[in-house]
Amino acid sequence: MNELLRAISGDGYVRCTAVATRELTERAREIHDLTPVMTAALGRALAATAIIGESLKDDGASVTVRINGGGPAGSIICVSDSAGNVRGYAQNSDVELPLKVNGKLDVGGAVGSNGMLTVVRDLGAGEPYVGSVALVSGEIAEDFTAYFAESEQTPTACALGVLVDVDRAVAAAGGYVVSLLPGAPVELADVLERNVRDTGAVTSVLNGGDAEELINRVMAGLEPRVLERKSIEYRCYCSRERVLEVVSGIGEDELRDIREKGEPIEVTCQFCDAVYSIAPEELAGKTE
Ligand SMILES: [Zn+2]
Repeated sequence: MNELLRAISGDGYVRCTAVATRELTERAREIHDLTPVMTAALGRALAATAIIGESLKDDGASVTVRINGGGPAGSIICVSDSAGNVRGYAQNSDVELPLKVNGKLDVGGAVGSNGMLTVVRDLGAGEPYVGSVALVSGEIAEDFTAYFAESEQTPTACALGVLVDVDRAVAAAGGYVVSLLPGAPVELADVLERNVRDTGAVTSVLNGGDAEELINRVMAGLEPRVLERKSIEYRCYCSRERVLEVVSGIGEDELRDIREKGEPIEVTCQFCDAVYSIAPEELAGKTE
């Protein structure tokens, strides 16, 4: 099951949020027909976006993550909200690259490292908060670590992983973000560093274990207490009304063309591949 857990150490100085996202990553793979390297790229981004979305408390608030490193993947866009709904897509889902020398999928090669990671927190009212960092490697976890270091101003480690099976299905996926809170004793940084190292690859823990197992390993010896546990899923909110709104926002010339042709247009939702057929008369037009 897809789950998000938020925990704090017994002394209150270490917090960790972990997610298990195999099913929702598999859903993304099915919708977008992702190649293995793109399953790993989008899957890692979805896991991190789910973790950031957890910090949104208000209904209607959402977080949008955009990653573009100039690689063949193009832009990767992920959206999450406080209710645990996550969705995303990559501009190019069909990227195929040779494995790296260590036998791993070349996510950094697909994403590229010449670009930015941008996080937009839309709290539902007022101007959204926008933060961005230059990509470190395009491997995504390192890039989010850099983002957290800058935006949270506290020592933070982020690990993400997607294990793709030989039949291309997702065998395991998820990740965690662990950070030291202000005032933490300096020795704690060493403990965390050792724990993160001992935890090893996220997918080897999640291949059999769950998000709680991740928390227990990353916070070993720190008496973790789970503060929140919620299910998360891949869900798109697109609707005919929203699609109409977006299409009506294109230029007046394009709208006139559509009306003159008199034929329905098909609009595909990038997040879930739902197809909407819009009749020309449905499009609001400004009278001339
Ligand atoms: Zn949709």
